[in-house]
Amino acid sequence: MSGLDILACGAHPDDVELGAGGSLARHAALGYRVGILDLTRGEMANNGTAEERDGEAKHAGEILDVSVRLNLGLPDRGIRLTDEALAKVVAVIRKYRPRVLLVPYSRDTHPDHRAAYVLLEEAKFSAALAKFEGDHPPYRVPVLLQYFINNDERPDVVVPTEGYIERKMAAIRAHRSQFLYEPGRLRTPLNDGSLLRKIVARDRYFGSLIGSESAEGFLWGAPRRTEDLLGLVYKGGS
Ligand SMILES: [Zn+2]
Repeated sequence: MSGLDILACGAHPDDVELGAGGSLARHAALGYRVGILDLTRGEMANNGTAEERDGEAKHAGEILDVSVRLNLGLPDRGIRLTDEALAKVVAVIRKYRPRVLLVPYSRDTHPDHRAAYVLLEEAKFSAALAKFEGDHPPYRVPVLLQYFINNDERPDVVVPTEGYIERKMAAIRAHRSQFLYEPGRLRTPLNDGSLLRKIVARDRYFGSLIGSESAEGFLWGAPRRTEDLLGLVYKGGS
């Protein structure tokens, strides 16, 4: 059984951890099958080599308890909507048949994150087309959610991450070449602590929206269907 409940996709090997690491750990703990797809090996980062980053990504995935972590090996700073790249992503979607697909926020300031959004959203569409050729049968992803990396807006889906904050932060720090400053490394917003402060503050703010200590927010952008309005009432109260 190779199917996944959630497939979280990023441009670089630490994107998913920053925006959705707590949610992934939470859903893995709930018994769902969770996977990560990194589009590139992040070889253009100021610090770290592709080989170092491969090992860090594997370790971070283990901390979050994901079932699979894949890397498409597209060129870093070279994510483009080409026929070849589209076919590669479609093959992953069709093979793993995720029920929820997580993709980077479409308006993030990093152009690679925006390019990843475009490629992934296109792949979701093509994966469902009967006449789009490939080795696996067509598959329609039911839910696509955008997660936030550098930038955000008011989310329309919020997942509490209380109890999973430590694992999220550990998974982020597993990307040592990016987040740990050592002599010989270049100073960056990642290893000077400024990005992490922002992530922690944002997670607290998203938590405040739902009465939780911490949370991760997502954009759905589609009307939510419910057959039972009482299903919207949170079991814990508000
Ligand atoms: Zn990134």
